[in-house]
Amino acid sequence: MASLEIKDLHADVVTDEGNKEILKGVNLTVNAGEIHAIMGPNGSGKSTLSYAVAGHPKYEVTSGEVLLDGENVLEMSVDERARAGLFLAMQYPVEVPGVSMSNFLRTAATSVRGEAPKLRHWVKEVKEEMGKLDISAEFAERSVNEGFSGGEKKRHEILQLSLLKPKFAILDETDSGLDVDALRVVSQGVNDFKATSDAGIMLITHYTRILKHITPDVVHVFSEGKIVESGGRELADELEENGYIKYTGKGEPAS
Ligand code: ADP
Ligand code: MG
Ligand code: MG
Repeated sequence: MASLEIKDLHADVVTDEGNKEILKGVNLTVNAGEIHAIMGPNGSGKSTLSYAVAGHPKYEVTSGEVLLDGENVLEMSVDERARAGLFLAMQYPVEVPGVSMSNFLRTAATSVRGEAPKLRHWVKEVKEEMGKLDISAEFAERSVNEGFSGGEKKRHEILQLSLLKPKFAILDETDSGLDVDALRVVSQGVNDFKATSDAGIMLITHYTRILKHITPDVVHVFSEGKIVESGGRELADELEENGYIKYTGKGEPAS
C-alpha cells in the first residue's frame, strides 16, 4: 500500500536573483493503485511540484507536508526518498556521460532494493523489459541519455519505472515529444506497471492525448501553483475542448 498525501505545499524555486514562490498551497491525496492526472498550462508549476516532492535542491519547500504512507518525505534525502519507493520520471531527463545504461540501472536497482540483483536474473529482466518498450539491445551499453532523442529518453524513464518498481511514481510529461507509436509503447509500459503493482501514479501532462491510452481515476487542473479543479475523466475531455482559458484567461489548447 502506498499513498501520497500533499498538504498545503508551498515551494520556491531558488534562482541567482533569489527565491520565487511557485507552489501556492497544493493539496492532493493519491491512494495506492490510483492514477491522478495533473493537467495545466505551461509555467503553472507542475514540474516544480514534482521536483519539490522528489527533493531537487533548486526547489525549497517553505511550508506544508508531503507524506508517503504517512512518512514525512520532506525530512528525507533524495536517496532516502528513492529507497522509500518514490520515483520521478523527469520532464527533461539528465544525460550522464560515461555511465552506461546497464550500470546505471543496476546501481539504481541495488540502491532501491537494498542488495544487488543477481546478475543472471537481472540481465534477463532488463532484456525482457527493454523488449516490451521496443528499446534495442545496444542501448544497454550507451551512456545514460547521451545523444538520445526525446522519445528514447522517455522510453528509458519507463524502463527505469518497470525495473525499479517504485511504490509511488511521478511521471512529468512522459508524453511530450513522443510520436504516436512511442506514445502507445510508453503508455503500455505505464499500464503494465499499474497492472502489476498497487503503486500510486501522478501523471503530469499538458496535453490530453496520453489520457486516451491511460485512464486516470482523477483529473486535476493545475494553475498558478495550485490545484484549481478536480474531477473524473470528463474533466480531461472538457479541457481538450476548451483548453485552459477558463482557468488562465488565455486561450491555450490542451490537446
Ligand atoms: P510547468 O512544469 O507547469 O511548465 P514549471 O514548474 O516548470 O511549470 O515552472 C513554473 C514557474 O517557475 C515558471 O514561471 C518558470 O519560469 C519558473 N521556474 C521554474 N524553474 C525555474 C528556474 N530554475 N529558474 C527560474 N524560474 C524557474
Ligand atoms: Mg513546462
Ligand atoms: Mg513542466
